[in-house]
Amino acid sequence: MIAYFNGRYMPKQDICIPVEDRGFLFSDSLYEVIRHYPGGLFRPDAHIRRLNRGAGHLGLSRTDFSDLIPIARDLIRQNHLESQDALVYLHVTRGAAPRNHPFPVPTPDPTIYVCVSSFDPDDRARQRETGIKAITVPDIRWSRCDLKTTGLTANVLANQQAAEDGANEAIFVRDGVLVEGTHSNFMAVFDNTVVTAPLSNYVLGGITRDTVLGLCRDIGIRTSESPIYQNRIHLASELMVTGTTTEVTPIVILDGRPVGNGMPGPTARKLQNALTECILF
Ligand code: PMP
Repeated sequence: MIAYFNGRYMPKQDICIPVEDRGFLFSDSLYEVIRHYPGGLFRPDAHIRRLNRGAGHLGLSRTDFSDLIPIARDLIRQNHLESQDALVYLHVTRGAAPRNHPFPVPTPDPTIYVCVSSFDPDDRARQRETGIKAITVPDIRWSRCDLKTTGLTANVLANQQAAEDGANEAIFVRDGVLVEGTHSNFMAVFDNTVVTAPLSNYVLGGITRDTVLGLCRDIGIRTSESPIYQNRIHLASELMVTGTTTEVTPIVILDGRPVGNGMPGPTARKLQNALTECILF
């Protein structure tokens, strides 16, 4: 695979990261995953906006990464993925400098890495058909979950716990509220209204979340951005997760208990169909 590293296209296996890179030492870095469908990238501008915002909050020396969109398209072309399902991975770190917590002086150039990989959509499509199992876990993450940093230890541990429990996703619970998944946003249907956590420092502003809320408005489904309390979750008729690779996936079992009638519900199906339509280029 050809990848992009600090201004050059090169074979992925030839890329070397200096051991003093702050992404390696401190997870002092941001990432994005953009979906490529046969025909094009899905909302690349929204991903770059989120990356730029994160770079501003982290005080990186660069806060405009819009040049990575044509680079991502080049990589899709160079790796012959134009007519396939694929993922673009972008990773930006503060750069390499001797290990010390404050921002390095002089300011290093950010390290920039972009790669692409083919993506098998069938497995995910099957999960959307049958629905998935999820568990709830305490949200032990930091208080800036709105920034898509690579500091994902809590997400890794929670997802591993889900895997060990035979589930596909873990939903973080903070102060009695189901916030989001380890790599997805979380939505519930109460009284025909799609409810999802309001944007805050505890939630990632998912591109799919934003798209799905827009689709709800387009097709006349009521929405509410308000807390989903764990002690009311049994009243939800449907639960679902949304994300770049997840799209709209129903949760049919949460913590071992069936959601609604234990089958994927009509709202998740409608939203996935609407999403599929807006993906068709
Ligand atoms: N929350 C978290 C913690 C995530 O890692 C992701 C995946 N990036 C999402 C939500 C969904 O975001 P998006 O729809 O932009 O993929």
